[in-house]
Amino acid sequence: MPISPAAVTTMLACARIGAVHSVVFAGFSAEALSARISDAGAKIVVTADQGIRAGKRIDLKKTVDDALAQCPDVKKVLIMRRTGAKIPIKEGRDVYLDTELEKQPEWCEPAVLDSEDPLFMLYTSGSTGKPKGIVHSQAGYLLYAALTHQLVFDIKPGDVFGCVADVGWITGHTYAVYGPLCNGVTSVLFESVPTYPDPGRYWETVQRLKMNQFYGAPTAIRTLIKFGDEWPKKYEMSSLRTLGSVGEPINHEAWEWYHDVVGKGRCSLVDTWWQTETGGIMIAPGPADPGAEVKPAIAQRPFLGQEPVLMDGKGNAMKDARNAEGALCLARAWPGIARTIHGDHQRYVDTYFKQYPGFYFTGDGAHVFADGYFAITGRMDDVINVSGHRLGTAEIEDVLDEHHDVAESAVVPFPHAIKGEGIFAFVDIKDECEDRHEEIIASLKQTVKSSIASYAVPDYFL
Ligand code: AMP
Repeated sequence: MPISPAAVTTMLACARIGAVHSVVFAGFSAEALSARISDAGAKIVVTADQGIRAGKRIDLKKTVDDALAQCPDVKKVLIMRRTGAKIPIKEGRDVYLDTELEKQPEWCEPAVLDSEDPLFMLYTSGSTGKPKGIVHSQAGYLLYAALTHQLVFDIKPGDVFGCVADVGWITGHTYAVYGPLCNGVTSVLFESVPTYPDPGRYWETVQRLKMNQFYGAPTAIRTLIKFGDEWPKKYEMSSLRTLGSVGEPINHEAWEWYHDVVGKGRCSLVDTWWQTETGGIMIAPGPADPGAEVKPAIAQRPFLGQEPVLMDGKGNAMKDARNAEGALCLARAWPGIARTIHGDHQRYVDTYFKQYPGFYFTGDGAHVFADGYFAITGRMDDVINVSGHRLGTAEIEDVLDEHHDVAESAVVPFPHAIKGEGIFAFVDIKDECEDRHEEIIASLKQTVKSSIASYAVPDYFL
């Protein structure tokens, strides 16, 4: 689904009838979609005829049709009309959402569920194997979503909260849907890209809707810096009280521009560290005492009840670490912790709880300063973070290795000025194909795009 009110109502409709939803980012390829549908055992797919992104139409229903060629268990496809484009309809399987809704009664009895029943699953990449369906619970997840949303962003009744993340990622789940709606405030959905139709689009939206909080990603901020200060300066944004950053470490230049130019130096800027698995924010500058120090460009303080711990190279917990760096673990469970990996509880135990017995291992490294504040240093495992999107190096290597002209491949991240991390692929092309080098690289790019998504295509090949 494209990010849209219908995507949100679909999620909430699932929650109401006790069905587990698995939102799949609309930028994924048919192959990635079909893998997620099959692994989840989904019976119904909800999509749109087309999506619109930066004025371009994207044939979402076509991606679904291609994916479903491999998913015989899907019995129904519900289609939201986004553009009204003429699309192929498979008799008996495909129906339009608006037509079906007209036939439904106005009231739907909510299902009564156990607090530990699953609310949704969301696929994310790991360092090995296929993407994993992270499962979140009903009560614990919702409590943590509501509490972190209210306290980290300083939510007041009547606020208009803008989280510009896509609903296909955990940030969209927790801070565009469940958190703001649990807290009874207005949530703004952002469908397009920050530079369309011009680089003032975010700030024009803030002004027009009088947003009180704005939550975005460093990669977008770095892109907007290039277009100059005049874009945020053009708009009246005095309604803003809190700015948020998520998805990757925020560099100092981006933090300062966001704070000084967008927030005019008078808004709190919270760098929030968390993961799909944590369900909500774990480390952020707030909540804190009024007037408490905020250090630029770091996540800083553990959220209420959190006990982050650094592990040294030998796997020992560094108690009250200061001026130290290590593997970031969490010593206590919290309400929003993912409960399992769909269909593979052992992988859940092995991935998060085996390396440091008694602790949850985040996969990230962190630094603790003399004052006890935390800074996240990045992933320690084979996971790459491209514009806040998580990718396993193994996922990309598997696709490259499958290509008939490739003998072997290895993928590594490199620092990228806009995306945070870029992807560098080393490919060993079979000797007999060396003269077709350029053609093979072009074909590899296309293969990665059609097997995973555009953002997974390596920037460089060697
Ligand atoms: P995801 O589960 O896709 O949201 O990705 C979570 C990962 O993104 C974390 O494990 C971190 O590596 C990274 N991340 C998210 N937020 C931050 C942040 N504020 N600072 C540094 N890294 C972050």
